[in-house]
Amino acid sequence: MQKEKILIVDDSEMNRSILADMLGDEFDISEAANGVEAISLLQKHSAEYSLVLLDIVMPEMDGFDVLAVMKRCGWIEEVPVIMVSAETASEQIERAYELGATDFIMRPFDASIVHRRVVNTMLLYAKQKKLVSIVEEQIYEKEQNSSLMVDILSHIVEFRNGESGRHIQHVRTLTDLLLHKLCEVTDRYPLSEVDISVISMASALHDIGKIGIDDKILNKPGRLTDEEFAVMKTHSAIGAQMLEDLPVHKNNPIVIRAYEICRWHHERFDGKGYPDGLKGDEIPISAQVVALADVYDALTSERVYKKAIPHEEAIDMILQGKCGAFNPVLLDCLAQNATSVKNSLTLDVSKASRRLEIRSFADAVLHSKSGGASERTLRLLDYERMKHNFFAAMTEEIQFEYSAGPDILKLSPWGANKLGVPENIVSPDKNMALSALLGEGWWQRMGDLLKTTTPDKPECSREEQLLLGGEYRWYSIIVRAIWSDDNPPQITGAIGKAVDIHDAKTKINELREKSIRDPLTGLLNRAGVREQIEPRIKGFPDHKYAFAIFDIDFFKHANDEHGHLFGDKVLCYIAQRLNHSIRQSDLCARIGGDEFLIFFEYDNDIHPIIARIFKALCGEIDSFEVRISMGVSEMHEEGEEYEELFHRADQALYCSKRAGRAQYHLYDDSMKDILTDREPDTETADGAADRRE
Ligand code: GH3
Ligand code: MG
Repeated sequence: MQKEKILIVDDSEMNRSILADMLGDEFDISEAANGVEAISLLQKHSAEYSLVLLDIVMPEMDGFDVLAVMKRCGWIEEVPVIMVSAETASEQIERAYELGATDFIMRPFDASIVHRRVVNTMLLYAKQKKLVSIVEEQIYEKEQNSSLMVDILSHIVEFRNGESGRHIQHVRTLTDLLLHKLCEVTDRYPLSEVDISVISMASALHDIGKIGIDDKILNKPGRLTDEEFAVMKTHSAIGAQMLEDLPVHKNNPIVIRAYEICRWHHERFDGKGYPDGLKGDEIPISAQVVALADVYDALTSERVYKKAIPHEEAIDMILQGKCGAFNPVLLDCLAQNATSVKNSLTLDVSKASRRLEIRSFADAVLHSKSGGASERTLRLLDYERMKHNFFAAMTEEIQFEYSAGPDILKLSPWGANKLGVPENIVSPDKNMALSALLGEGWWQRMGDLLKTTTPDKPECSREEQLLLGGEYRWYSIIVRAIWSDDNPPQITGAIGKAVDIHDAKTKINELREKSIRDPLTGLLNRAGVREQIEPRIKGFPDHKYAFAIFDIDFFKHANDEHGHLFGDKVLCYIAQRLNHSIRQSDLCARIGGDEFLIFFEYDNDIHPIIARIFKALCGEIDSFEVRISMGVSEMHEEGEEYEELFHRADQALYCSKRAGRAQYHLYDDSMKDILTDREPDTETADGAADRRE
């Protein structure tokens, strides 16, 4: 028996040789040292190869480029490709699958795995090809049978009507063409290939009701009288009735479509047709299309009572509304495809192209959910799942998949185990274990997050804390929403993963915390307090706010007489007192050496508040009399800036110092230039020490 052929594409001779050794006994091996060589071999012999083993990283034309060419040329349908690489990045693997690779083998190779994958893939492909040909054969045969019966039946009608014998065929061809064009320009009528094929076949029965019309009226050469026309008009209802009275096959799709067509192919889009006076899209699309095809062919064919009208003239008449009222979208299809319409009727649909059509139809059926390819699909899915789970476990990420209908959250086995919840969770929003892990309101947060995506930009992410093993850990949740093809599109689910970023996040938080706090007293520092004040003062004038800046009097003495450690103790004492003397919603900070800031809200009279705070901050510690000087500024107008308020409080503080210390002043405009009048600054690095006297 002849051996099956395998093409190995790899730039490393060593790799090619290892693979050839593994597979050479059983298969006929060809080798290509780069992408270009591979393409030229496939160009000549693509049908001969049963499999391609393709390396990803190669100079010039890499494995992805080769795959892209194979996809473009349709070779990928014939020859399965297994990608071979040391690459483990999931995007690379995903890209390979997207481009049509069937499987992925990781280097270094294990001979038995390579062998098994190769054999399995070849078996799957052979099976798939066989399935396609079986289904193709069945559909072809079935269609041939029904087509034959429909043709005979419609020929009887034609014969009795004295029609050319081609009318039925023409209507069928035009219906098929118009429906395809219609589906290209709009998704208002969601018709599958199967629907189109059924409607086209059923169109042959549109005039079946004429069997019930008297011969004399049916074949009258001259104009019909009003009474005769009234009788003639009953043919649509008669045809529909005949189908409705069928003792069997009533639910057959062809019969259902034929009923629509028979009954309503003389309805008009403007509601002035018969028998039911349906309007617009109340008329089934099958009947709308057949009506248009019928009118076009009637115009362009010769009848006992009229001559044939040329194609262009017929199209013009229809577009101008001289032959009835039609759906504007359908008229557009007719106008834009006028040449195809004409040609389609002169060409005889050859058996070969019909066969091709059926083949692609068979393929579509196999790939659709309802098709018979379940065995192949399930096996492939099993493979996918196995690979997916393997990679998911390797990366130690919590991966998930959510589908809205049915409402199920699926977790990767590793993820489910890590979280201590089941792999499949029905109604995740009601799951207690998940709420305990993610905190209340997590479902709402996820929903809000998904709403930030669009079909063009479906990815999104947010950071969440998960309660794992009694400890809150930070996770980055990265999600891709699944949008439907509906109009408008809707979110039908999501896939994603949760990546542990706890350590990084904790470090960032710690660093951030450090950057806004004074390490000695634990109070906010100057930058930290500013960051918190600024957004608040934007809320003015709903609230009255004030800044108080104070500085310890003769603090140098504390240092000089008792040492720096004692000085530190005084600073901590002040901080403690400060914390106790302001409300929780107010803010305080150490903004320099012995300088502090208080930001507070007040209702009416500010004086009692300042007096209380001032008093609370003075006291004695180890025989050192703690006294302070304070300056206060109030917000007067909307839009006053932080800098300005800070500066005013500073000016008032300077006044207190100059007036003899141990006192406070509320800023007024007389203090405006006080700081510019004083001696030059001798500021130290921390920005506050040694500023005055
Ligand atoms: P005045 O009444 O004019 O405010 O006099 P003062 O002695 O308090 O002088 P000033 O406010 O200008 O000096 C503040 C001093 O605080 C100077 C500096 O050595 C000291 N200092 C600054 N930071 C620290 C600190 O973290 N710990 C200690 N112990 N002392 C500090
Ligand atoms: Mg001082």
